Amino acid sequence: MSNLPRIDGSAAWAQLSPEQQADIGAIAIELVAAWACDDQLQEAAQPRDELIQEIADLSEAYARAAGYCDAEMISALQDAVVDALPREIFFEGEVARIPSRLGPICRRCGCTEYDGCEGGCSWAEDDLCTACTDSRRHVFVSADAARAVDARAPALNRLGEAIFECTGCGSVTTDPQRDADLYRRAGHISCCPERHMVPLRIRWSFVAAPMRFRELDPDAEVAP
Ligand SMILES: [Zn+2]
Ligand SMILES: [Zn+2]
Ligand SMILES: [Zn+2]
Repeated sequence: MSNLPRIDGSAAWAQLSPEQQADIGAIAIELVAAWACDDQLQEAAQPRDELIQEIADLSEAYARAAGYCDAEMISALQDAVVDALPREIFFEGEVARIPSRLGPICRRCGCTEYDGCEGGCSWAEDDLCTACTDSRRHVFVSADAARAVDARAPALNRLGEAIFECTGCGSVTTDPQRDADLYRRAGHISCCPERHMVPLRIRWSFVAAPMRFRELDPDAEVAP
């Protein structure tokens, strides 16, 4: 196996008190809920007549709170986790640990199960991909990695979109134009008189796959 520093989230979880687990678990669930709010706003901005009426009827107050809540949940989760666990859990020396759930990582190019090499690759060894077994050395730097080393890069949401913040009222969005359209539809001019959108800069960026909710099993027993 490679020597890249990894974090085992299950082992870290086991170090938490029941109260800390309850707190962090609840925030994680609400963060997913916040992403659902954000997805819904994106949907409302699509000009497709059948779907949007119910969402377009939502108030400006809803749009503002729903658009902002993921930023709040992200920082709540970050604070709760960072307060509960020592730094060594997250860093080996000065190097941040890579989550174990990413699975195997190619020791030469850093490709992983769902981030394969151009042209495709598979595992030649536990930590070496087939694209790296031939003699031609290839080095691949993803856009995310390039942004990560650029300290001036704006904060990104899980879809890799830049997040913008209004310096007037603090509302945040990935799409200032879409929000302006929503405000106009609700009969308002903008979020506030000082509306001025600038890229938001936070410490960590978040990129993940689109959410897929699990269907409830209709035959499952419901607790009384
Ligand atoms: Zn490789
Ligand atoms: Zn590869
Ligand atoms: Zn504003």
